[in-house]
Amino acid sequence: MSAIDLNARASDSFDAKLAETTALLQQAARDYAASNPFGPPRVTLACSLGAEDMVLAHLINQLELDIGIFVLETGQLHPETLALMNRLRDTSRAPVELYLPIRKDVVQFVEREGKDAMYKSIELRKACCHIRKMEPLARALAGKSAWITGLRREQSGARAEVPFIDDSELATKGLRKFNPLAAWSWADVWHYIDQHSVDFNPLHDRFFPSIGCEPCTRAIAVGEDFRAGRWWWEDEAAKECGLHVKKSEGAVA
Ligand code: SF4
Repeated sequence: MSAIDLNARASDSFDAKLAETTALLQQAARDYAASNPFGPPRVTLACSLGAEDMVLAHLINQLELDIGIFVLETGQLHPETLALMNRLRDTSRAPVELYLPIRKDVVQFVEREGKDAMYKSIELRKACCHIRKMEPLARALAGKSAWITGLRREQSGARAEVPFIDDSELATKGLRKFNPLAAWSWADVWHYIDQHSVDFNPLHDRFFPSIGCEPCTRAIAVGEDFRAGRWWWEDEAAKECGLHVKKSEGAVA
């Protein structure tokens, strides 16, 4: 059974949620338009190529919004994810930028700690995430005033309070974060994908709800938590790569 057959069902308030999401994206594009006609937009979508981010990329393109899109190409993505990334780059109206880790840092880390270092300790896993995700993320957001994510409250306990607009990084990094899908259910996401024939990662059809790097993602079983397939060997509280965790929560390596 495909992910669409399994999941696509609109909640009663789906139309209102979609209107809310559309309004937030339009606000982001309006408030953070390029500072000159030839400049890049000051707001960008962090696209993991997961189902939620494919919905957001589709909306940005369909609404013809002046919002950039970037992908953190960690060097550890599944072949299916890389193929989807290339299809998105080929079809997206909004430019899709790739950010790769610094090669020297990856080579030194793997030589020193081994290619399976992420399984040895939380510290090494976070060090790997820092090199492959956090440092490229800092480059992707340099010069930006706002970013957009596909975070949803339903995804995990740690994300239960996700606001539509998060200004917690405004004072320290000068960044506003928009979470336009905060109120969407997983079924809403798949309803939108079904209705609009949005391209998606075929791994979703193989019970991968949340897709990250290949060594750190597995399929989940019936009844398991949405994020159970990510860093499954770690405690629940540690299960973020640092992209969406505040300093006070201590997850950034
Ligand atoms: S998710 Fe895994 S492979 Fe990817 S950067 Fe983090 S530790 Fe490394």
